[in-house]
Amino acid sequence: MESLPAALRGLLGQDAVRTPGAAELQDETEVRGAVARADAYVAPGSTEEVARVLAWCGERGVAVTPRGGGTGLAGGAVPLEGGVVLSLERMTAVRALEPERWRMCVEAGLTTAHTKRLARENGLYFPPDPGAGEQSQIGGNIATNAGGPHAFKYGATGAWVTGLEAVLASGEVITLGGAIRKDVAGYDLRALLVGSEGTLAVITAAWLRLVPAPEAALPVVALYGEDAAGVAALEGVLASGLAAAALEYLDARTVAIAAHGFPGAVPAEGAFMVIAEADGSRAEAERLAGELEEALAEGASTVLAPRSRAEVDALWRWRDGVSLAVKAKLGGKISEDIVVPFEHLGEAVAATLEIGARHRLEACSWGHAGDGNVHATFLVSPGDDDTLARAQAAREELFALAVARGGSVSGEHGLGWVKRGQLARQWAPAALDLHEAVKRAFDPRGILNPQKKLARG
Ligand SMILES: Cc1cc2nc3c(=O)[nH]c(=O)nc-3n(C[C@H](O)[C@H](O)[C@H](O)COP(=O)(O)OP(=O)(O)OC[C@H]3O[C@@H](n4cnc5c(N)ncnc54)[C@H](O)[C@@H]3O)c2cc1C
Repeated sequence: MESLPAALRGLLGQDAVRTPGAAELQDETEVRGAVARADAYVAPGSTEEVARVLAWCGERGVAVTPRGGGTGLAGGAVPLEGGVVLSLERMTAVRALEPERWRMCVEAGLTTAHTKRLARENGLYFPPDPGAGEQSQIGGNIATNAGGPHAFKYGATGAWVTGLEAVLASGEVITLGGAIRKDVAGYDLRALLVGSEGTLAVITAAWLRLVPAPEAALPVVALYGEDAAGVAALEGVLASGLAAAALEYLDARTVAIAAHGFPGAVPAEGAFMVIAEADGSRAEAERLAGELEEALAEGASTVLAPRSRAEVDALWRWRDGVSLAVKAKLGGKISEDIVVPFEHLGEAVAATLEIGARHRLEACSWGHAGDGNVHATFLVSPGDDDTLARAQAAREELFALAVARGGSVSGEHGLGWVKRGQLARQWAPAALDLHEAVKRAFDPRGILNPQKKLARG
């Protein structure tokens, strides 16, 4: 019988199919124990080629794991049942760029950073900014409904997608929405594919909504000796109605670990850090930045206001690298992305440390404070099974806390494989049934990204 790679070469040609390398079987999940397995890695060059692969696999019940940039933090792009890793890396065409109408249509494999640069070069702004933008792809951002610091003002990726082209498990191509800003004609299947983590369809292209680029974006950084003082300052910003574009926090332990490279001085033992940003016309941004400085000064030991382009870029580059700096400390981390109503942020920050201490784990957290999104993190050394087991137990307590406070087990990274079954904590059985029925309706044979985004464990 013909091997899977040989059959796929017959469909797509020699160059589009190969044996996956080790890195192409992983994402950024780290040390979670998923055993990756795939028989072939394919990189189709067009929607029609994606359709050919899916039709072939759909007919034979062969598993397909869609893959973007592989920067996901939930194990979503890790193939677990053999079959095909379907990479969108060659689908990078810009199908339409219409700055005068504030929109563009790009293929799924274009990187996030490239998409943002294209918008910027045309005087426009594509706000979603998950932290690994040079590697992550628009298709991956849509499939995870990625957030990022500026989701506080502008919303997560899905808020910027007006249309999708996608290929179903049957190989049929569908288009939902398009270059239109409103559409209530049918059930919102576009929204259903947003955040579906490759389990319902393969996204091949998207129409994106843009806005005129703000003239200025001015961050304010404040440091606090006590976490509680920093949390109180965040509450003060919100309560005063200051419309920051981003409202981030890093607890003192995170700042101590990542201090090297921070463009400014921080105490060696760290300090709770708030990063807020004001944007708009230069006059608006300056006025708001001044108000943020004033609000954040309450209880702060230091307030910094970087102003030159180089200083602002250095600050956000440092912020993007925090996750990697924390991972580097012991070589690994179990990092979750629970989300709670804003008033419980302080409790979630404190609970991360308290749960960590109880399980004898080094713990820290940072995240998108304005969205109540806490990257609660336990440090582990790869291969240290005892610490890993304690970290797994600790994360269960975090999930329980988030749900008990009306939050969610995932604010932006998704369930993927690492949080499979955790939805059952927060949804009623009837809602879980609907979740499973949606999967069956899109993918009756279960070929798309098996074992991912499971509602029940
Ligand atoms: C340093 C760092 C910082 C990060 N910061 C953030 C952050 O601030 N906010 C945030 O939300 N995330 C963040 N992430 C997580 C990650 O970058 C995002 O989830 C990103 O959207 C994943 O995109 P990707 O292209 O790498 O997708 P992948 O990791 O390749 O895939 C993610 C999931 O999407 C599916 N998928 C990918 N492409 C497609 C497609 N075309 N069609 C259908 N399914 C597809 C995969 O099957 C998988 O389930 C961060 C990651 C790192 C490493």
